[in-house]
Amino acid sequence: MHEHAPSAVDETTLRKAVIHAGLETNRRGLNQGTSGNISVRLGDGMLITPSGVAYEALQPEDLVFVNGEGRWDPDRKPSSEWHFHRAILQARPDLGAVIHVHSVYASVVAIQGLDIPALHYMVAAAGGNSIRCAPYATFGTEALSQRAVEAMRDRTACLLANHGMIAAGPDLAQALWLTEEVELLARQYVLSLQIGGPQLLDDAEMERVLEKFRHYGPQRDDAPSGSD
Ligand SMILES: [Zn+2]
Repeated sequence: MHEHAPSAVDETTLRKAVIHAGLETNRRGLNQGTSGNISVRLGDGMLITPSGVAYEALQPEDLVFVNGEGRWDPDRKPSSEWHFHRAILQARPDLGAVIHVHSVYASVVAIQGLDIPALHYMVAAAGGNSIRCAPYATFGTEALSQRAVEAMRDRTACLLANHGMIAAGPDLAQALWLTEEVELLARQYVLSLQIGGPQLLDDAEMERVLEKFRHYGPQRDDAPSGSD
């Protein structure tokens, strides 16, 4: 265990929770193979899923601790996307967990380089009146990391052009919930484009919804309470 850990039990619980979230992305059809990756804040750094290991094969000790300076145990290899996980967690003290997937509909919208506009009030669940698409940059680069942080300004999710999406939250449960929500919104967007295009909600209405979410949270049966 590491010196940064609040306690051995807490860190082990966190490691198991990351694996559980990864298995859930598979079970919910949001991820396949080794394309996704997940991180969670720990001390001055983060725990992140390793490079090239499917969630089904992961053991708690396989997760890699990357410290605040971006260093890790040389015997380990974090996901190639550790740059943007670290950059998001460092830029955003409000966030504690980050999930990245190449889910089909989010990727299809990102392949067009499109933001998800205010086609449904649930777009506000990501913090604004759109879910931005970050311009393309090669996977695993610092450039992609900077573009992702910028696209997530005042937001908790973004698309990555020709790549996939990122969803984050104060904890793993909320990040997982938002991942599924963004994929659903992308699917609604793609389908609505096939029957003439969406009728968008205006900024005043989205501001009303954002205000309600600030007070009550998203009003969905499966929304996490966020109270703990
Ligand atoms: Zn990716």
